[in-house]
Amino acid sequence: MEEITKLLQEKILTEGSAKGSEILKVDSFINHQVDPAFMDLIGKAIADHFSQQGITKVVTIESSGIAPALLCAKYLGVPMVIMKKQPSAILNDHLYHTEITSFTKKTKYELTMSMDYMNENDHVLIVDDFLANGEAATGAMRLIRQAHATIAGISVIIEKSFQPGHEKLEAQGLDVYPLVQIAALEDGKIFFKD
Ligand code: 5GP
Repeated sequence: MEEITKLLQEKILTEGSAKGSEILKVDSFINHQVDPAFMDLIGKAIADHFSQQGITKVVTIESSGIAPALLCAKYLGVPMVIMKKQPSAILNDHLYHTEITSFTKKTKYELTMSMDYMNENDHVLIVDDFLANGEAATGAMRLIRQAHATIAGISVIIEKSFQPGHEKLEAQGLDVYPLVQIAALEDGKIFFKD
């Protein structure tokens, strides 16, 4: 097992909590308060995995993906692009946009990216905090394809492997790289894969 996976498992067990059988709360080091030194290790581990793949941009979705994506981009020596969430349909012909359904929050939102920051010469890595049903990642892929860029893969800090995101993305030929995989959340207990 990779060192970062071991560290994440320890941190999730000591600081995380299961909300029912679906949601993992990790507000103390990822989603509300951020541990910069720990995030630096996360960014480096992701960058190491993709270092030979000719990545030109790291893309994330605001807001919890920004910290790991920024540090990963720092180690790869490339820019990070933030896809923006807008509450309703926008009218701007200089933006790529697509609609995303969030099962977690039971809402729909518009995801947008400026046409200025991606083109057909880009080879893109998507970085996010969580992978669950894969809706956010699939929406990000739609925007990247609108820009005619190619996609190297997707990396997340935490994958909930009992939800179908990983399989859905891998079936499209993507390199899906989660740093830690949750097998189940049951009665307040957290179970890891492996
Ligand atoms: P997906 O689109 O893969 O279903 O969900 C991914 C997004 O939903 C992530 O970017 C994350 O913000 C949010 N999310 C999904 N599951 C969880 C969870 O268990 N805990 C937290 N904190 N966020 C989650």
